[in-house]
Amino acid sequence: MNIDLTEYNLIAISTSAGKDSMATTLEVVAEAEKRGVKHRVLAILCNTGADWPNAETEARKLCNHLGIQFQVVHPYRSVPDYISMRQRFPSMQCRFCTRLKTSAIDKLIRKLFPHKQEAKILSITGERREESTHRKKLDEFCVHDELTAGNRQVFHYRPILDWKVGKVWGRIKASGLPPHPAYTEYGNERLSCAICVFACDKDIWNGALVRPDLAERYLEVERKTGFLFRHNQSLASILAKGAIKCR
Ligand code: SF4
Repeated sequence: MNIDLTEYNLIAISTSAGKDSMATTLEVVAEAEKRGVKHRVLAILCNTGADWPNAETEARKLCNHLGIQFQVVHPYRSVPDYISMRQRFPSMQCRFCTRLKTSAIDKLIRKLFPHKQEAKILSITGERREESTHRKKLDEFCVHDELTAGNRQVFHYRPILDWKVGKVWGRIKASGLPPHPAYTEYGNERLSCAICVFACDKDIWNGALVRPDLAERYLEVERKTGFLFRHNQSLASILAKGAIKCR
């Protein structure tokens, strides 16, 4: 790891309980342990209200096992509530759902370290360049402009930005710890919100099976507004392709 973790008062890892979050947490905790600063590591999970069942439990289990602090935050409005209120779905141009998540995590960091208090904070996330054209352009390390204020200096660090998916799974396998059952029992590619506009069809089918309530809410938005889940593709048609029956 190219970063000296001992410089930071708080090492905050955003986790979704997915494979990238897990690999990131394993890497950071191993380094923090080596440098004697494991007690400064805090994993934060934002419960969006659209999460896979047990996301919180699995993340908590990992943190307990690794001996680090864990905290759950909630956005001021859940992702499904926000979608229902706006009567439209997130898109590449308008990722309001991600914003809801990061705002809740940022709020906790501001509360823990008010800007008058002198502190140097590392905010860590598990994006990988391989995943999207947007992520390709991200910095591995940069100033966190939104959180840096007064005496509070915050930096954003993405330790697995250049990792390929095989390396992620290799790291998890080497730990001997089980990933979220969405991967092992359902064969998901990714995990975060159970039904996500950016997910592949199979992950959406799995999400609708485990969160039929969520599928029904999103189908309701489509029925009421005619606004489609994805550009030119309705959730109803995606679920029909997978023979997933909703009400
Ligand atoms: S998983 Fe998808 S729907 Fe959920 S916050 Fe991320 S981008 Fe939005």
